[in-house]
Amino acid sequence: MVLVYVEHADGAPDELSLQAIALARGYAGGAPVEAVMVGPGPGAADAAPVLGDYGVATVNVAELDGGFAPQAHARAVAELTGRLSPAAVFAAGSDRGNEVLAHAAVMTGAALAANCVAATPGDPAAVTRMRWGGSLLEEARLHGTTKLMTVAPHAVAIEPAPIETADVVSFTPEVQEQDLVVRVSERVDTSTGGLSLAESPVVVSGGRGVGSSEGFGALEELAGLLGGVVGCSRAVTSAGWRPHTDQVGQTGTKISPELYIPCGISGATQHMAGCKGAKKILAINADPEAPILASADYAVVGDLSEIVPAITAELRRARDG
Ligand SMILES: Cc1cc2nc3c(=O)[nH]c(=O)nc-3n(C[C@H](O)[C@H](O)[C@H](O)COP(=O)(O)OP(=O)(O)OC[C@H]3O[C@@H](n4cnc5c(N)ncnc54)[C@H](O)[C@@H]3O)c2cc1C
Repeated sequence: MVLVYVEHADGAPDELSLQAIALARGYAGGAPVEAVMVGPGPGAADAAPVLGDYGVATVNVAELDGGFAPQAHARAVAELTGRLSPAAVFAAGSDRGNEVLAHAAVMTGAALAANCVAATPGDPAAVTRMRWGGSLLEEARLHGTTKLMTVAPHAVAIEPAPIETADVVSFTPEVQEQDLVVRVSERVDTSTGGLSLAESPVVVSGGRGVGSSEGFGALEELAGLLGGVVGCSRAVTSAGWRPHTDQVGQTGTKISPELYIPCGISGATQHMAGCKGAKKILAINADPEAPILASADYAVVGDLSEIVPAITAELRRARDG
């Protein structure tokens, strides 16, 4: 049996967790796949039965009140691991998935490999994992009765595999006081009106070439017209022009929009690590030799302070007939 820690929001399982389930099912090779979700939160009970559509036979819902507490979630995973002795425990390679499984690894003494893109069962199990923001693939071996793995975001396709019904079983994990010391106590909405950088279908990003925080006004306008949000490079956050929450890249947010428009961004490896999931890239850069052009589907070579307003004006003309 293989266990998957599944994140959820608003009564639906998280997309990255569904990707983790796809890798877990391949690893299980026909053996049952169970999930563990932590609730009651908004909607664990609603999200749980949906997992049957992705090949999960049993969903264990850990009854825990309050905001996300990584160690408490890990306690639920560790408790089930002790009870069910799964061959492996998977989670999404999200901030939360990595944090929860890291704690669970300490609690169970099991080995953890983060950011896996492939896994073959056995003792040791063979895993391929992404390192250095995706610029290196590492072949590793995992030993032990239960192996813990997180799955690199957007590296494995979600695979629907409907089974009749997923059984939902509730349990109350034995959480200790110190497990609740670190927990989410409040959530503050970002200024993007609810559309997050990670989920936006269009991202217009600015780099050092934008020149100043005021220069981002034109990018905001273009993003607004396209129903997207603004991102940026690390040069920009280091200069204090935008907050770190806007940064795309290895040490920022990983995005996979339908359209990514990097303006005045050179295309350093650490930046590309965050946007290589984009379906299409339209690069705007003054330098015809800029590395970003090699990754772009479309490029406009020129001064962004002229090109961005020109695109915006054209879009307005098209919109207003
Ligand atoms: C451990 C580590 C982690 C890192 N993590 C990240 C990360 O998460 N995200 C990230 O972005 N970086 C990250 N970096 C930094 C990264 O290496 C680069 O330094 C950074 O991405 C460069 O930002 P930039 O492209 O905006 O600036 P530059 O490299 O200076 O590029 C500016 C670009 O703007 C163009 N330009 C200039 N003027 C104009 C104009 N008027 N019109 C059009 N184009 C113009 C230039 O031709 C150039 O291509 C990391 C680095 C390290 C060491």
